[in-house]
Amino acid sequence: MRMMAFARAVSARSATAAALAAYAARGDSNMDEQPYRVLVVGAGLGGCLAAKELRRRFGDAAELHVWERATYTAGRFGAVAKAGELHVDLGAQVLSVVDPGDPRALPGHGITRDALDGAWTEVQALEARGLVEPVGDEQLAPTEERLLWPELWRQYAAVGSLSDVCAALLADARPDAVHFGRRVDGLERDATFVVAAAQRDGDGSATPARATFDAVVLAVPAPDALAIDGVADALPSELADLVRRTRYDARTATAVFLRDDDGEASRVLDRVFGGGVERDGLGGLELVHRHGRGGPVVAVVAHSAAAAAVAPQLSVADVLAAIDAAALRPLVVSSKTVRWHCAQMITPLEALRPRNPVDRGPCVCDDSSTLVLAGDYCTQSSFLGAYASSLAAAEAVHRGYLRRGW
Ligand SMILES: Cc1cc2nc3c(=O)[nH]c(=O)nc-3n(C[C@H](O)[C@H](O)[C@H](O)COP(=O)(O)OP(=O)(O)OC[C@H]3O[C@@H](n4cnc5c(N)ncnc54)[C@H](O)[C@@H]3O)c2cc1C
Repeated sequence: MRMMAFARAVSARSATAAALAAYAARGDSNMDEQPYRVLVVGAGLGGCLAAKELRRRFGDAAELHVWERATYTAGRFGAVAKAGELHVDLGAQVLSVVDPGDPRALPGHGITRDALDGAWTEVQALEARGLVEPVGDEQLAPTEERLLWPELWRQYAAVGSLSDVCAALLADARPDAVHFGRRVDGLERDATFVVAAAQRDGDGSATPARATFDAVVLAVPAPDALAIDGVADALPSELADLVRRTRYDARTATAVFLRDDDGEASRVLDRVFGGGVERDGLGGLELVHRHGRGGPVVAVVAHSAAAAAVAPQLSVADVLAAIDAAALRPLVVSSKTVRWHCAQMITPLEALRPRNPVDRGPCVCDDSSTLVLAGDYCTQSSFLGAYASSLAAAEAVHRGYLRRGW
């Protein structure tokens, strides 16, 4: 990555972190004013996009809360491994979106024309803010997930990390309160929703947390949504059943950081990757992506996939052997592994009910549009899929609010 772009990413990351810390510090202070209280559960890509769209639709008429079980904007688009200033993504390595100007860009499979246009506009804005930059198809591996349809699907790499992108989207939402380290375990419907959670404390223990909301958006993978007590019962049974029938593949991602002060690691990686940043099929691995250039540390992120719920282990030795770089072992600084039990969609909701894809747009709602489930499992695993579902979820919550004549 160019050094100027890297410096910009680090400074954008500090500014966003400061903004989110301010929202977190505001806690639950607006409770007396009785606006429409909306909770977004999950600050992955879908939750951050849903929060932003909710703020756009409601303006100041909603009090917007976000609860995320990880300690930062994480999920499959945001999980990172860090070594010094180098942050690398452990889930998606690039952001994928359709160019709506291409004649092949047609609505369908749960993606509306508004979603096509809106997702593209959002990505152009992220590029203008210096958070992402286009990456040519020739740099990437021709895997199925890359959706390599030249000129139609466009791929963008994070200048810092995709977690910075999620954090910036969340800051745009101007949430009234954000709680990281808070896992939602149950909800009960009364006139409103009583939501119960466990708040992780600094010492590793957890404290119960509870609050009431007028509407709840669950922007979490389908199995995580159904694991929350009360969710399946609050949905029409045929919708709960459809959500239960969605299927994901599994994946293990391992990031390996290598010392590069004398450029030796880069020389080896140049040989392995040629002019690109990504290779597939090396040593049977699904994908290997290189990160960092010209800094003290560089990294590779390797993915091994499986159609079953658990993907194979992937040790540092496995990764170096697969890229034929075992000699780099003494340069390894650190590594991190994440096992994604829900990685990318095999069977999304729109495939289960193709003629009437989902309840109202690519999201799942209860009868009053106050409990809304959103996520890539409604359409497809990509920035576009998450955007389309978040757009529909925010629209549904707003419709429920108008219907109640708030
Ligand atoms: C290996 C891999 C490669 C990919 N490649 C690409 C690509 O090339 N291009 C592209 O555009 N997309 C790609 N994707 C897809 C993209 O990452 C996903 O579609 C997107 O991140 C889904 O976002 P989401 O918000 O629906 O879910 P998630 O990212 O899973 O976010 C859900 C969030 O909810 C939180 N959560 C879960 N349960 C609870 C709870 N009970 N309480 C509180 N919080 C909770 C989680 O911690 C998480 O942060 C890839 C994904 C993977 C895994």
